[in-house]
Amino acid sequence: MNLLTILVPAYNEEDVLQQLYDRLNKVISSVPSYQFEILFVNDGSKDHTLSIIKKIRERDKGVSYLNLSRNFGKEIAMIAGLDHAKGDAVIIIDADLQDPPELIPEMIKYWEMGYDDVYAKRKSRSGESWFKKWSSSTFYKLLQKITKIPIQENTGDFRLLDRRCVEALKQIRETQRYTKGMFSWIGYHKMELLFDRDSRAAGETKWNYARLVDLAIEGITSFTTAPLRLSALFGCVVSFFSFIYIIWIVTNTLLFGASVAGYPSLMTVVLFLGGIQLLSLGIIGEYLGRIFNETKRRPLYLIDEYNNQKALNRNTDI
Ligand code: UDP
Ligand code: MG
Repeated sequence: MNLLTILVPAYNEEDVLQQLYDRLNKVISSVPSYQFEILFVNDGSKDHTLSIIKKIRERDKGVSYLNLSRNFGKEIAMIAGLDHAKGDAVIIIDADLQDPPELIPEMIKYWEMGYDDVYAKRKSRSGESWFKKWSSSTFYKLLQKITKIPIQENTGDFRLLDRRCVEALKQIRETQRYTKGMFSWIGYHKMELLFDRDSRAAGETKWNYARLVDLAIEGITSFTTAPLRLSALFGCVVSFFSFIYIIWIVTNTLLFGASVAGYPSLMTVVLFLGGIQLLSLGIIGEYLGRIFNETKRRPLYLIDEYNNQKALNRNTDI
């Protein structure tokens, strides 16, 4: 019998875990032709998430868990889970029930038909402000324009991945991860399912705008070097006009002599060029920072405990 892993990254989710487990269980029993492993990745929660997971595991050995040594963020929690998933396919689902587990049987059906990556796309996003919706849609349009791989809009990490997709993702050992871009990057046969995204069942979102901006920069810098080219292009354009302006000033001075006036134009040009230089340096710095982080070659995460066993972390990185 085939084994499927349901991977649940969880950070401070004590209010919803039991509810999630109950709903997952119902779904699992409606698909009797498969065995299931529910793998919780506790991402350094500060509440009772871990003890609730342990209690669930005591009653149900189909449940495994991975306790990370601290909070590493969802992107890392996911790769930690993928590294430890045993299933022939892995279904990634949020702990907060914003992704309805009832969609899983349909995902499995498509997987049986031969699709490798069955992802859920939201029709609606209840419980999110118009500003979040607007900023996210603008970001995707921008990202789409400057990267060459299509990245699905309105799609989260809720998806079913065939084993070969999982193995592909496991080979991408970048520390600053933009997993959503990686799903597109690996390719394979993709299938889209539409669903209505609910509001959180309980607890609160861990995302704030600072984190979203962070992820946006990650998304751009990890998938394209277009900003570097853009700053070079901008430099060329500015130099071109400056050159014309220089010729004009020099001829003017030679023909008519110099007048001292010109403070406003001088100031404008100095400030403008200063701004552009700082911006370009910032862009270069952003990429340099990524290079720095990758060259450290640290393990992506450290495990505290895997299914009641203390981990030594000899071999977390593959
Ligand atoms: N999460 C995590 N580590 C973090 C932040 C979030 O594992 O540092 C998990 C969280 O428990 C949830 C999922 O990632 O299962 C999505 O988080 P959240 O609901 O806060 O994000 P949103 O749905 O608002 O985008
Ligand atoms: Mg959520």
